[in-house]
Amino acid sequence: MTTPLTCLNFINGVWVNAESGNTLESRNPADNRQLIATFPSSAADDVDTAVIAARKAYITWRQVPAPTRAEYVFRVGELLVKYKEELAQLISREMGKTLTEARGDVQEGIDCAFYSAGEGRRLFGQTTPSEMPNKFAMTVRMPIGVCALITPWNFPIAIPCWKAMPALVCGNTVILKPAEDTPACATKLVAIFAEAGLPPGVINLVHGVGENAGGALVEHPDVDLVSFTGSSETGAQIGAICGRTHKRVCLEMGGKNAQIVMEDADLELALEGAVWGAFGTSGQRCTATSRLILHRDIKEKFTTMLKERSSKLRLGTGDDPNTEICPIINSRQLQRVKKYLDIATQEGATVLMGGEIATEGELQHGYFFQPTILDGVTPDMRVAREEIFGPVVAIIEVTSFEEAINILNDTKYGLSSSIYTRDINRAFAAMRDIEAGITYINGPTIGAEVHLPFGGVKQTGNGHREVGIAALDVFTEWKTVYVDFSGSLQRAQIDNRE
Ligand code: NAP
Repeated sequence: MTTPLTCLNFINGVWVNAESGNTLESRNPADNRQLIATFPSSAADDVDTAVIAARKAYITWRQVPAPTRAEYVFRVGELLVKYKEELAQLISREMGKTLTEARGDVQEGIDCAFYSAGEGRRLFGQTTPSEMPNKFAMTVRMPIGVCALITPWNFPIAIPCWKAMPALVCGNTVILKPAEDTPACATKLVAIFAEAGLPPGVINLVHGVGENAGGALVEHPDVDLVSFTGSSETGAQIGAICGRTHKRVCLEMGGKNAQIVMEDADLELALEGAVWGAFGTSGQRCTATSRLILHRDIKEKFTTMLKERSSKLRLGTGDDPNTEICPIINSRQLQRVKKYLDIATQEGATVLMGGEIATEGELQHGYFFQPTILDGVTPDMRVAREEIFGPVVAIIEVTSFEEAINILNDTKYGLSSSIYTRDINRAFAAMRDIEAGITYINGPTIGAEVHLPFGGVKQTGNGHREVGIAALDVFTEWKTVYVDFSGSLQRAQIDNRE
C-alpha cells in the first residue's frame, strides 16, 4: 500500500488548489479500497486563471526560436527515460494496465519527445516561384496560440505527450485537462515538463470533471484550439461548441475496429494478433479489435484455437507479472460492458467464452471482466456496431474477400483495421478499399508508432491526424508571404497577362 498523493493544478508555474478548495479522488481500479490520489475539482474560475497565464506566456514563447523550444521537449524526453519505471508503476496502479503495457505507454511519450524535438529544426515551409518578376513567395508555419488539451485515461502519458509536445515545439502554450480517472499520472507528467525548465505559463494543468473544467476550457473565448481524445459523444459536443465559438478543433474519438482472417492466412500468427488486439489493455484501446471477420473455411478451426488460447488468459493486478487481463477503468464502464453482453444475448449472439464480471478472490475488490468471445454475430447487431471498450470480441463469418471488406467498412467509425492473408493481391486491394485511418497487413489492429500519422476517418475523427508530421498541421497555421523587390506595384493575374 502506498501513501495517497495530493495532486494540484499547475498554473503559471505554481502548484495550486482549485479556488473552491473542492477535491476528488482517484482509486486503483484493480482494488478500489486503495486511494491513489486526491486532486482539485476545478471550475471556470480556475480555467480562467490558467488561460490568462497561457495567453501571457504565449507572447514570449512564440518568439523563442523553434530549435530552443524543441530542446525543452528533448529534456522532457530525457526525464521520461529517467522516470520511466516510476511512471509505469504509477500508471499501473492508477489506470490498471499491466506493467509491461504501462512501460510501453511511457515509451510512447519518450519516442514522441525525441521525434517532436527533431521537428524544432525542421518545421519546413515551402518556397515557390512567384508568377511576377522580382517577387519572392514562401510559406511559413505560425503557432496558433493557447491550446486546450483534453485527454482520456487509457493512455495517461502517451496521449498528453502526443498533444503537448508538438504543440509546444510549434510555439503554442497549453492547458491540459486530463481524465478524472488518471490525475496522478498527469500530475507527474506535468511535473516532468516543469523540471525540464519550461517557462511559467507555457504548460498548465487543470484537473476536474469533464463538464466543468473541460467544458469551461472549450467555451473560453481566449482558447484558440481544442485538441480532444475521447468518446464520440463528448467529441460531438465539443465540436459543436468549437463551431459556435470559432475555435480550431481536433477530435480523436471512438472505433469499432476489425481484424479479417482469410482462408489462406497463417492462423497461428492471426491468433496471436487477435488475442493481443482484442484483450490487450482489456480491450480499452481506441484501436482494440472488437470484431473478428473470419472466412467460413477457417472459421471453426480459428474459433476453437481462439477459445483455447483465450481461456488461459490470467486476470489480475497490473503489477503481477502473470497478469494478462487488467481491470476495467471504473464501475460505470464495467456495467457498460456487462450491459452489452445482455444486449448481445438478447439479439441472438452466442457467448462462447466469458461474458461475466469476474469476482473470484481478490478480483472482487476491482472492476474485472472475463475475456469474452461472442459467436454468431451478424453485422446488424449492436455488438457489431457500437464501441464496447472492454475485453469482448464479436465473431462474424463471411464467405468471400469482398464480403469481408464490406462488413469491415459497415460501421460509422474508421480508426484501425487489419487483414491476415498470404495473397499479395488481396493485401493491396485491402489497403485500397478499407475505410480506416490505419490498416495493418498481417498485424493486429494495435501497434501505432509515433512518427506516423494517427487518427481515423468517418465518425472517428474530424479530418486531422495526431503525431508524425501530421501533428504540425494541427498545431500551426500556414502563413503565405510575398516579398516584392521590384520597387513597383505588380498586379498578379493582370500585369503579367498584358
Ligand atoms: P470521454 O468520457 O469522452 O472523456 C475524455 C475526456 O473528455 C476526459 O478528460 C473527460 O473528463 C473530458 N470530458 C468529458 N465530458 C466533457 C465535456 N462536456 N467537455 C469537455 N471535456 C469533457 O472518454 P473516455 O471514456 O475518457 O475515453 C474512452 C473513449 O476515448 C473511447 O471512446 C475511445 O475510443 C476513445 N479514445 C480514442 C482515441 C483515438 O485516438 N481515437 C484514443 C484513446 C481513446 P472526465 O474524465 O472528467 O470525464
